[in-house]
Amino acid sequence: MWISIISLFPEMFKEIIRYGVINKSIKKKLLNINFFNPRDFTKNKKVDSVIYGGGGGVILKAKPLIRAIYQAKLQMKHHVKIIFLSPQGKQINISCIKKLLSYKNMIFICGRYKGIDERVINNFVDEEISIGDYILSGGELPAMVLIDVLVRNIPGVLNTISSCTTDSFFNDGLLGFPNYTKPKKLKHLKYNDVPKVLVSGNHKKIKEWRLKKSLEITWLKRPDLFKKKILTKKEKFLFNKFKNSYLKK
Ligand code: SAM
Repeated sequence: MWISIISLFPEMFKEIIRYGVINKSIKKKLLNINFFNPRDFTKNKKVDSVIYGGGGGVILKAKPLIRAIYQAKLQMKHHVKIIFLSPQGKQINISCIKKLLSYKNMIFICGRYKGIDERVINNFVDEEISIGDYILSGGELPAMVLIDVLVRNIPGVLNTISSCTTDSFFNDGLLGFPNYTKPKKLKHLKYNDVPKVLVSGNHKKIKEWRLKKSLEITWLKRPDLFKKKILTKKEKFLFNKFKNSYLKK
């Protein structure tokens, strides 16, 4: 995957490139990231200007952004999708991630100030992606979120495939099951035990327990997701067992 980032603050990305899965995927040559600063595509370093019609604030001018887009495209081999990180975009979710993973070459445009000249969006942008219904000061943090989530899902990046397929949302929109590690007991705490089934060595029972927990947790924490899930016969059976005992409490 090749990602070109258009940003006024490329230095902000330095740290995420040095650590964790992003660093690993760059080293394994599964990911290539490069940067284009619109400031480098101006004569006087001026990239913003006031908004026509008044009202205060500035936006990023079209020309430096367009020149940065052309330069980024020149360096990328195949068909390129242009993504604008924007609070007005489609909110990022697992199906959106799967779609983006099919694009091998992407340009991420990070807005700043009150945004960017609308003509850049109308003429160049293929998709607008939001990370949530709130306003950040720039597109850099959303771009980092998007890179992290994409990289985790590139085959070969995580050690075992199960480390992403058992995460929340992956399994048909269910939340992930709870996990425990050593020691088996934590003294002086109300909840101090590891569930016995997890240390029983019975893999069939462990699998069943995990599925039941995923169903329970999704129902309790994210009823909106649970409503959308079509349960199999087995899932219905496990969930009803839990629900009956829960309602009796
Ligand atoms: N005036 C814009 C509006 O009301 O839609 C908001 C501009 S915001 C202060 C500056 C830039 O931050 C945006 O152009 C966008 O690139 C980025 N941004 C802010 N919030 C975002 C979000 N929730 N998701 C993705 N990008 C966001």
